[in-house]
Formats: sequence, structure tokens, C-alpha cells
Amino acid sequence: MNSFDVLVIGGGPAGVHAALAAASSGLEVALFDENAAAGGQVYRAPSVADHAETHDSRAGDALRHALNNSAVTVFFRHTVWAVTGDYRVDASGPSGPVHCTGRALIVASGTTERVVPFKGWTTPGVIGLAAATILLKSQGMAPGSTTLVAGCGPLLAAVAAKTIDIGGKVEAIVDIAGPLDWARALPATVSRPDLMREGFDWWRTIRRAGVPIYSRHTIVEVNGDGSDLMATLAPCDAAGRPVDGPRRMVSADCVTVGHGLTPSTEITRLLRAKHRYSRDAGGWIAQADRDGRTSRDRLYVAGDGAGIAGAAAAIHRGTLAGLACALDLATGKTQPPDSELDNARRAHAKSARFGRSMSRMMALRHGHIDSIGPDVIVCRCEDVTRGEIDAACDAGARDADQLKAWTRCGMGPCQGRTCGDIAAEILAARTPGGSREQAGSFSARTPLRPMTVEALTGDFTYADIPIPKAAPL
Ligand SMILES: Cc1cc2nc3c(=O)[nH]c(=O)nc-3n(C[C@H](O)[C@H](O)[C@H](O)COP(=O)(O)OP(=O)(O)OC[C@H]3O[C@@H](n4cnc5c(N)ncnc54)[C@H](O)[C@@H]3O)c2cc1C
Repeated sequence: MNSFDVLVIGGGPAGVHAALAAASSGLEVALFDENAAAGGQVYRAPSVADHAETHDSRAGDALRHALNNSAVTVFFRHTVWAVTGDYRVDASGPSGPVHCTGRALIVASGTTERVVPFKGWTTPGVIGLAAATILLKSQGMAPGSTTLVAGCGPLLAAVAAKTIDIGGKVEAIVDIAGPLDWARALPATVSRPDLMREGFDWWRTIRRAGVPIYSRHTIVEVNGDGSDLMATLAPCDAAGRPVDGPRRMVSADCVTVGHGLTPSTEITRLLRAKHRYSRDAGGWIAQADRDGRTSRDRLYVAGDGAGIAGAAAAIHRGTLAGLACALDLATGKTQPPDSELDNARRAHAKSARFGRSMSRMMALRHGHIDSIGPDVIVCRCEDVTRGEIDAACDAGARDADQLKAWTRCGMGPCQGRTCGDIAAEILAARTPGGSREQAGSFSARTPLRPMTVEALTGDFTYADIPIPKAAPL
């Protein structure tokens, strides 16, 4: 068992900056991430040598360089599957299990992609919008030779433009938001002219390629066999509900669709920190002060896992959590000066303004949830349909855990990360006087990620089993 001052879970911009800030204050820090290198989702390290240099790849290289030149102990390719209240972290890596303890824990575990289910969303060839960014960044690969890009938020333009840049064909962009939604987000983007410019570049690439854009439209159905997909598009209202109007058919060999991101809170929920629901921040988030201190002593949150606000805000939120942790552990080692905290707070407030405006564009829309048909699968691990969830609600299920126990929704390998938000939203809408606060969320359980029994037991043989001696008569 290795002991550290601080354990950090997550090697994205938030986790790395938290680790660097804590380490530069003289604390012994260990960082865990299941990926092979630091960068998280946005600054993901490319796994192919021949990749195009972009703003994100340069920022990722700088992040990895800073971490490599620090005193932080790193555990990459290590999946954290259990965390206990005394801040013991159990992870599984290529050389077997690793157990570490920390005096403090910083959770920077990022987000999970949200897809509002529709008929055919589980068909092979239909993938998440955020998942498509993994293909594009890590493999330099287009999601399909012909791709339909659908959903809401800034990832729409990012995925479409990057697909075109590497030679893919985008058949159409289907955006639930209308021009007014984008206009409303514009004032906040002024605070980040660099990101605004990047956004304009994406749209210029899309326009030049002549990609049809369907604003205030949504996908209502996908048919096909995985390589030849046919999507049906419908106009929708501002709440995301399909309305009367011409249905359009678009064929593609990949449909990439995403409806925003939800903060990954399974670790803070497992540790029973207090949480609150915030639709604009992406869903349930751990209650925290402005520097990331949660309701539990020496437990901190940082980055999108603390509320969706984007990569730039994640960097500063990470620094704040690392500095707060260094102050709280006050061991006589170097203390961060107040000015460092103030600077990070100011920088965070500025970048969070931009990030929050993008997050609002991706917030769940009530009409969109209403449009999920009774035979549509909501929990794809356990094949639980909307109709089964409705029936459980009508039979009296009043919170997410009851729903889980009655239907098996959320009991599969993803542990509800994909369906939990949608199932709770349906429950809240179906219950008279219901709300997301009352519906709650699925209880977090270990193992936090799917594991093999071998990885859990490690080098364990039959001879290791203690056999009690027979009791004397
Ligand atoms: C799939 C995906 C793709 C995205 N692509 C983009 C993009 O292209 N551009 C953009 O601006 N935003 C993108 N986002 C949003 C993006 O996540 C953030 O804005 C930004 O990366 C947040 O930084 P973070 O450090 O908070 O989290 P992340 O960058 O998500 O980092 C969290 C890290 O924690 C690790 N982790 C979590 N749980 C565990 C565990 N149990 N064990 C070990 N490691 C764990 C993850 O592997 C990840 O590396 C994407 C989000 C997702 C979900």
C-alpha cells in the first residue's frame, strides 16, 4: 500500500492542474487515469504518430510536458474501481491491482456523454458525438465515410469540421437549437475571442463543404444494418418536441448524435458527499465552495465533473482545488500565496462564463424527453424500454433506486452512466408533482467500472484461502 498526501482521480486538464498545484506546494501527489497519457477528453493524446497539429493537440502536449517535469507520481492505464471514506483508492492496471491512500482526495473524473434515446439509437453505426471526437483525436479517423452529425451544442460543429478536415463527408448537420439559441449564447463567447474564432473557423469549413444544416430539427428514427443507415429527421419546437412538418430522410454509414454531457459524480456519490441538481451545469453535482471543497473533509472536486463548464474552466478549477488542498493540509510545507488563489478564481470566473453558456445549449429539454416512444430502449445494457419505466412509475416507483430495483434499468455494465439521467428525468416528469431532486439518482456502487474477477483478486491462489482449523469438541 502506497501513502501520499493527495490522490487525484482523472488526468484531464482539471486533474493535471490540481496535481501540479498541490505538488508545487510541496505535497506528495499521485494521479490516476485509465488512459495511456494525460489529456482527458479534450486534450487526448493521439495514438497515431502522424496527426495534424491543432490548438487542442498543442495544449495537450504542453499539459503532458508539465506533468512529466513535475514530482507527481502517475498511474496511467489504471482504472479506479473503488474509493473508501478514508481515501483509499483501489485501481487496476496492466501490472495488476494498485492500492494507495491519501490524506486528501481530488476527484476530477470529467463527464459522460448524454444521448436522448430515439427509435434505432442502439443500431450499430450510431455513435455518440463525444465518442466521435475520440476517434477523430486519438486515431485521426472519420466516424464514417459518410456521416450524419446530430444533436445540440458546440460539439456538433467541432465534429463536423474535423470530419471534413480529414477527408470525410458530412451528409448533414441536425441541430435541435435554433439561430436564436445561438444568438443568446453569443455575449458570453465575447469573453473568449480565441474560442469564438475557433468556432467561426469550424462553421466556415462546414459552409465551404456545402453541408446542409437543419436547425430546430431532431432525429426521430434510424433504420438500417450498421453500414447503410437511413435517418428520419423532423422539425422540432424549442423544447425539442418533434412537430408537424416535412420529414426528411438522410442516408449515411455513420450517425453521430449527442445531447450534451452530464458530470461524472459516481465517486463523490459513493463517498456520500452532498449533491445538488443543476440543469444548466449538466445534472447532479457535488456541493462545493468556489475552490472545490465538498461537504466532506479533505474531499475536493474539479473540472467538468463539478459542473460542465468546458476545458478552459477545468484548468483553473483544477488549480483552485490543488491550492485549496495545499492550504487545508497545511503541513509547514510551502503555502500558496493568496494572490495565486485570487488569480485562479478570476481566471475561472471568466472562462466558466463561456463554458456555462455552451452547457446551457446542451441542457435537457422537456419536449425531447416526452418524445421518447414507449417501445424505445432507454437502458441499452439491460434492454429496458420507456414503456417499462412508465409502468414502474405508474406502479409507484418514486425514486431512481426503486426504478432500478423494479426494472433493472441501470444495473448493467455501465452502471447507469448512460441511462441514469434520462430515466430519472422520465420519472420526475411522470410522477405527479415530481422533480429531479425527488427522483434522485442511482446509488453509486463498486466496482465503479466493469472489471474482470482476475483484476480484482490479483495474484491469488487457492493456497491463499485461510482454512479455519476444526473447532475442539
Ligand atoms: C467523450 C468526450 C469527448 C469530449 N470531447 C471534447 C472535445 O473534443 N472538445 C471539448 O472542448 N470538449 C470535449 N468534451 C468535454 C470535455 O470533457 C471537457 O470540457 C474537458 O475535457 C473537461 O476536463 P476535465 O479534466 O474536467 O475532464 P476530462 O478531460 O474528461 O478528464 C477526466 C479524466 O478522468 C478519467 N477517469 C474518470 N473516471 C476514472 C476512473 N474511475 N478511473 C480512472 N480514470 C478515470 C478519464 O479517463 C479522463 O481522462 C468531451 C467530453 C466527453 C465525455
